[in-house]
Amino acid sequence: MTEEKNFSKEELWQAALGEIELNVSRANFFTWLRNTSIESIKDGSVVISVPNNFSKEWLENKYHKFIFQALKRLFSEVNKIEYIIKSELKNEVPEKEKDKKINENVLLKEQLSLNEIGVNRETGLNKRYAFETFIVGSSNELAHAAALSVAKNPGKTYNPLFIYGGVGLGKTHLLQAIGNEVSKKEKLKAKYVTSEKFTNEVVMAIQNHTMDQLKEKYRKTDVLIVDDVQFIAGKEKTQEEFFHTFNSLYERNKQIVLSSDRSPKSITTLEDRLRSRFAGGMIADIGYPDFETRLAILKTKAEEYNFKINENILIYIANVISQNIRELEGCLTRIIAFSRLTKKMPTEEEAIKILNEVVKTPKKIVSIKQVIKTVADFYDVDEKDLIAKSRQKEIVKPRQVAMYLLREDLKSSFPYIGKKFGNRDHTTVIHACGKILSLLKENETIKREMEIIRERLSNQS
Ligand code: ADP
Ligand code: MG
Repeated sequence: MTEEKNFSKEELWQAALGEIELNVSRANFFTWLRNTSIESIKDGSVVISVPNNFSKEWLENKYHKFIFQALKRLFSEVNKIEYIIKSELKNEVPEKEKDKKINENVLLKEQLSLNEIGVNRETGLNKRYAFETFIVGSSNELAHAAALSVAKNPGKTYNPLFIYGGVGLGKTHLLQAIGNEVSKKEKLKAKYVTSEKFTNEVVMAIQNHTMDQLKEKYRKTDVLIVDDVQFIAGKEKTQEEFFHTFNSLYERNKQIVLSSDRSPKSITTLEDRLRSRFAGGMIADIGYPDFETRLAILKTKAEEYNFKINENILIYIANVISQNIRELEGCLTRIIAFSRLTKKMPTEEEAIKILNEVVKTPKKIVSIKQVIKTVADFYDVDEKDLIAKSRQKEIVKPRQVAMYLLREDLKSSFPYIGKKFGNRDHTTVIHACGKILSLLKENETIKREMEIIRERLSNQS
């Protein structure tokens, strides 16, 4: 851009935030980027002010790259970014630093939950997610109907309700909507928790000998909602606690709602007793939204932002982004950022140009190491085992998947892959790839697993 020097600091930061939002989950975005601003820009050196140490740490260590890229794209002279805590600027001592040493972990978690905008600390619910703002289409019809029914009659229809589907397709939205609906009408206690948070709580409770309180807290809810439950797989103590909590609620006809990125069957390291509990009620999946649904979502969001936009632009976005509603929203945010920055509505050509930058970002190059790590993490096996000679059944499939991905996506040669996997013969690799290829043709589970793994790889940088 040639006029870049005319942007005000605020405008530049707003536009950059619009971009960063695309790369960061909503919760993280609110948590770490809220109340940040550009303090100064001088000779390509940008000083960003942040509200506290935690934000500083996270931005420096985790999001620096996104921030740098976003600013660079808007303002090519940027060559350095510094993060400064706002209170330091004003020469104040941050209150928290006056305190004695507090367990950083506790604080960090506190911070996370406090800052997630609009989240009720007790219930974990955010009013933003409601049934009214959830657009129903063929891809989510069943999950939506089940969720609604559970919200109207908790504990009486489907118990547990298990919703699964890929990233950014509306699972959290539906789960939260159930909680909000329940809390609205009746004197029922709904509680939403991510399985990561639940795990952290179990770990802390063990450390602090407060398990009884934790048990009490969860067992007194009427509707317990646990999001992304796949993360508790493989975590023994958490699974055990969860099993007992589950039973205690279930026996008293309390509603349990769960979500995951895959079906209970496909969460490989989930304890069997939990798997059968999870699968014992209603299972509904959410698929990719069709074009009409995507367009309807965009229109609703534009309205929410009070943003009048040329419908052709929305149609264009809906055409280009098909597999992730969060990205769909991200594109719209980007157009809005552009429009605020330039104080005009982008023309269709401009919109296409803006979006092409997002959509056509060259596929990030992932390394062999990343593929192996991602596959190992996904199947919850050890990276070393994946490479070693073991013929254990649990390892064989993940290993074949990793080989397949290296061949298909990284275009590595068969002998090279063999070498990377404990000096195996290239024929073994050919066999592995063939095996996965034929499985992919007939087996829904592995297809889905492959989607998730690829999604995770493409989210890495
Ligand atoms: P998931 O939990 O499946 O990864 P989310 O529930 O976080 O996905 O959805 C991602 C974003 O897309 C959220 O902002 C959510 O409000 C929005 N969204 C998803 N599905 C719909 C829908 N059917 N109608 C409206 N907004 C949706
Ligand atoms: Mg979610």
